[in-house]
Amino acid sequence: MMTKTHISVGCAVGLAVAKALGMHPGPEYITAIAIGSMLPDIDHPGSKINRKILPRSKKIDKMAVYTIMAIVAGYLYLKNSNMGFALYTIPLFLMIAFSKHRGITHSILGSGIFIFSIYSISNELGRGILAIPFALGYLMHIVSDMLTSAGVQLFYPAKKRIKFLFRFKTNSTFEKVLMYIATAVSIYMGLQCIF
Ligand SMILES: [Zn+2]
Repeated sequence: MMTKTHISVGCAVGLAVAKALGMHPGPEYITAIAIGSMLPDIDHPGSKINRKILPRSKKIDKMAVYTIMAIVAGYLYLKNSNMGFALYTIPLFLMIAFSKHRGITHSILGSGIFIFSIYSISNELGRGILAIPFALGYLMHIVSDMLTSAGVQLFYPAKKRIKFLFRFKTNSTFEKVLMYIATAVSIYMGLQCIF
């Protein structure tokens, strides 16, 4: 599924939840949804997020770069025990380094690791509440991918790919329609939260 569809679906659901909870979502709330909506695809070396991080869109680059990040995070933690958040990032970086597309980062296990880490980091920065929009974006990404033919390894390490009975192809007309509807709902919900 296209990144923009993931972001628009994440925003539609995230803003609807904000409205239901009586929250007033600001730019950082929307940013947290957008990051959560994109992050599961960090398992793909050619994904939008990795094109900004990796030197080349190759599996070996992904493995090397994220393993180095895990080592640096571990080194920082050992050197300065105040940097507790470095510890939360080690399992994340290792998970990304060795992940296959639509595997662990698209599973219940991977979501738990990511959401816990993001909650721990944002909580240390005094913004633990941002874990909610992040989690909504992240989980909606997985649900949306289950609408496509490839499905996701929801119960990783089980290999079976889980998908809905109703499915469509990436970049198909149906996906575009879904994106436009989700964008319209996002705008409507955004306005509802403001006024
Ligand atoms: Zn995905």
